[in-house]
Amino acid sequence: MEQRLGPRRVASMAILGVALIATGPWLGYWTIIPLLGSGLFFAVMSRGTAQASRPEYRMAAAWVGAQLAIAGSVALTGGPRSPAVSWLVIPVITLGARFSGRGVSAGVGLTAVLIGATTLGVDSTWVWHHPADMIFPLAMLAAMAVLSTALMGSDLAHRSASIIDPLTSMLNRASLNARAAELTAQAGIVQQPIGLLVGDLDCFKSINDTHGHAIGDAVLRDVAYRIRRELHAYDLAYRIGGEEFVVLMPGAGAGRSAEVAENLRLAVAAEEVAGIAVTMSFGVAAAPPGTFDYAETFAAADAALYEAKARGRDQVVGASLPAVAVA
Ligand code: GH3
Ligand code: MG
Ligand code: MG
Repeated sequence: MEQRLGPRRVASMAILGVALIATGPWLGYWTIIPLLGSGLFFAVMSRGTAQASRPEYRMAAAWVGAQLAIAGSVALTGGPRSPAVSWLVIPVITLGARFSGRGVSAGVGLTAVLIGATTLGVDSTWVWHHPADMIFPLAMLAAMAVLSTALMGSDLAHRSASIIDPLTSMLNRASLNARAAELTAQAGIVQQPIGLLVGDLDCFKSINDTHGHAIGDAVLRDVAYRIRRELHAYDLAYRIGGEEFVVLMPGAGAGRSAEVAENLRLAVAAEEVAGIAVTMSFGVAAAPPGTFDYAETFAAADAALYEAKARGRDQVVGASLPAVAVA
């Protein structure tokens, strides 16, 4: 979202800049200085945000800095008489894209305080005689906060719906494709092996046929839960089809990948699900450092899975990729 906002933020600052230049003969051209200052501050704070350990603190500092610059301009251009009071509301639109509910409330609260400070604080007598000059910007702030958080919430829901499988809450095939393309592109740069597992439930069709589709769904949910529970946070698991799962493990070579697959197989077989014994077969492949190609690695793991089924199911089979072999 930050990448999408960046160019728009520059455009919206340019629009405000044009307005300030157009009104320069009346207000003075110096009014452009706080705007430039705010733009510069934002640029400095956003630089390196992606690498920062707490990027949200940097974004918050940039946001507050920009608001203070606008408040300064408002105070200098007449406080409650300044037509720029309502400009304090503009950055509020971006809050929901970056911060949690608490962050949004804090941003809206700070903006309300700044509207009060730049109107009442600068010329309380004026506000007493022209209350609309303070009340209208405050009402605009409240309305904007309500509407923009609703839009942001629905945007977030749409984006997560497109990457999450609704039945198991695992990542779906679309997000696997995106991650696979990323890892393939980075393969030459990141010198680490990458392991890939494909798991498929054994005789799942007969579970559906015997116990019904709803029980089949419950089995899928429980298996997905057990897989996630066994994995490290950075080993991502995906549901790529009916009862097929893929796990991508950057940093894991052939041996480690086979070990993880065996742990998953044991975790699935360990207890019955809804009174039904469930087992799962796994195919494993791992690309040596610097050579990962998703399509190739997946094909190798899938062929190994086929072999595991042929050998009688409920087992892990390792694939042979060039220069690497899993026992
Ligand atoms: P094998 O051991 O060879 O993998 O046999 P299998 O029966 O598991 O294999 P097959 O691929 O023939 O069956 C998969 C079944 O998964 C068929 C389909 O009805 C079922 N299935 C696919 N998606 C869903 C789902 O979302 N919910 C449920 N309950 N069943 C599903
Ligand atoms: Mg199956
Ligand atoms: Mg299958």
